[in-house]
Amino acid sequence: MAESSSADYVFKIVLTGDSAVGKSNLLSRFTRNEFSLESRSTIGVEFSTKEVQIDGKTIKVQIWDTAGQERFMAITKAYYRNALGTLIVFDILKASTFQNLDNWYNEVRANAGIECSIILVGNKVDQRHMRTVLYENAKRYAEERNIPYIETSALDATNVEQAFRSLIADIYRHWA
Ligand code: GDP
Ligand code: MG
Repeated sequence: MAESSSADYVFKIVLTGDSAVGKSNLLSRFTRNEFSLESRSTIGVEFSTKEVQIDGKTIKVQIWDTAGQERFMAITKAYYRNALGTLIVFDILKASTFQNLDNWYNEVRANAGIECSIILVGNKVDQRHMRTVLYENAKRYAEERNIPYIETSALDATNVEQAFRSLIADIYRHWA
């Protein structure tokens, strides 16, 4: 964890999960309160920052975003380096993105280490009438790995702030 003059702490967190689950929109919703209907594929690695107050401390969060399929091992290493937390995102409408969670979970554990805080995020809950992944199944998956589960909508902003804040608070409790 680095220190900077304006913030008490700087945390790096990374977004992981299959392509098109909503990672970039969760990021833009959280950092700029923006949402886009078009899927714009992330080129390489991008990051945005936002300052968050926890316990009266100012935490500058640097959030890294990438496009799942475009990654190579060399990028992977740099992507996870010094990451203190990750949101592993899947799409509750698309079962394959849930079935792929083990790949993401294992990649996080292999590259960011055992101490990296994780939150599992089921996105697109605004479309819950079309869900193919049951809440109970996702919840159980998370519980088996001792990580929290939350359902979000980048479209209508449901739980987006909560998902990021809960991860940041967990990192804060762990490191600060
Ligand atoms: P990424 O590839 O994981 O970064 O996914 P994007 O953020 O690019 O989103 C992929 C597509 O899903 C885009 O068409 C978004 O508009 C849409 N999308 C993202 N989040 C939501 C959401 O919460 N609800 C709905 N209905 N669509 C979403
Ligand atoms: Mg993206």
